[in-house]
Amino acid sequence: AKEAGKHTYRVFLPEMNQKVAKYIWLDTELRKAIDEKQFILFYQPLINLCTGRLHSVEALIRWRSNSRGLVAPGEFIRFTEESGLIIPIGRWLMQEAAWQAARWHESGLNIRISINISARQLRDTAIVNQLRELVEQSGTARTLIDIELTESSFIEDEKAAIELMRQFKQMGARILLDDFGTGYSSLSQLTRLPIDVIKLDRSFITGIDQNFQAQSLVRSVLGLARAFGFTVVAEGVETEREVQFLKDIGVDYAQGFFYARPMAAEAFEAWLDDKKKL
Ligand code: C2E
Ligand code: CA
Ligand code: CA
Ligand code: CA
Repeated sequence: AKEAGKHTYRVFLPEMNQKVAKYIWLDTELRKAIDEKQFILFYQPLINLCTGRLHSVEALIRWRSNSRGLVAPGEFIRFTEESGLIIPIGRWLMQEAAWQAARWHESGLNIRISINISARQLRDTAIVNQLRELVEQSGTARTLIDIELTESSFIEDEKAAIELMRQFKQMGARILLDDFGTGYSSLSQLTRLPIDVIKLDRSFITGIDQNFQAQSLVRSVLGLARAFGFTVVAEGVETEREVQFLKDIGVDYAQGFFYARPMAAEAFEAWLDDKKKL
């Protein structure tokens, strides 16, 4: 802003960094989105490769923007992490997922839901008590919510992150290590973390039936998983050949467009009905 008169300041928009302008716009729109509850959870099934049946679902957020329609998380989640808006959004999301799981539970569907928690959200230790309260309110004895974390959650303060995981696990949540293979941790570091499930990143799964390097990585992860009692999920499966290969080498679960895209709850229920995956 430049001083134009005694009490008047003029903002020269063209001079403003375009990025800054976009951030201000996004920030305003996202605050409105939180107030007006413009978010929706989509659900994508994880399939047991042995039985072909549903194992659980992953909740993936979408923003129903008035001006832009349905917006994918890649376009706004990082921004909400930087601005801190991920905290209220995460609170809404946990509540929504717990409510959905309880509703399915009441109608006789035993479906666990995993939710994505970013490193930024783990810095707010109130998150554990929030989940605990939701479990108590929902009337199910243990939580039906599982937690997906990435390796980045352990970089800042590994001890603190491990303690939070321990508390999540105490109330019945499982811990999934998301996007495995894209971060810095080595296989041996994995054994220090109280995780239950390793999710192999899509970048290793795409075309794995023809990629020897990816095959040997996945095989070593499987060997370690067997030794330490982790289960292994392959994410982003898109072809029958990928599924067949993963099944043959003993990967436990798979998730991807081959089975289903992320869907709103009603569409997921229809899919379940149609495919008889339960
Ligand atoms: P992610 O946790 O790795 O989620 C998987 C992403 O891969 C999803 O994208 C999903 O739609 C996509 N996907 C699933 N199967 C396939 C497939 O077969 N092929 C391809 N090409 N893609 C597939 P989405 O929904 O756009 O989410 C992107 C990322 O945004 C997520 O990656 C996650 O890191 C983040 N995210 C999503 N929802 C939330 C949330 O509620 N909270 C937080 N903190 N992050 C979220
Ligand atoms: Ca995830
Ligand atoms: Ca992932
Ligand atoms: Ca991924």
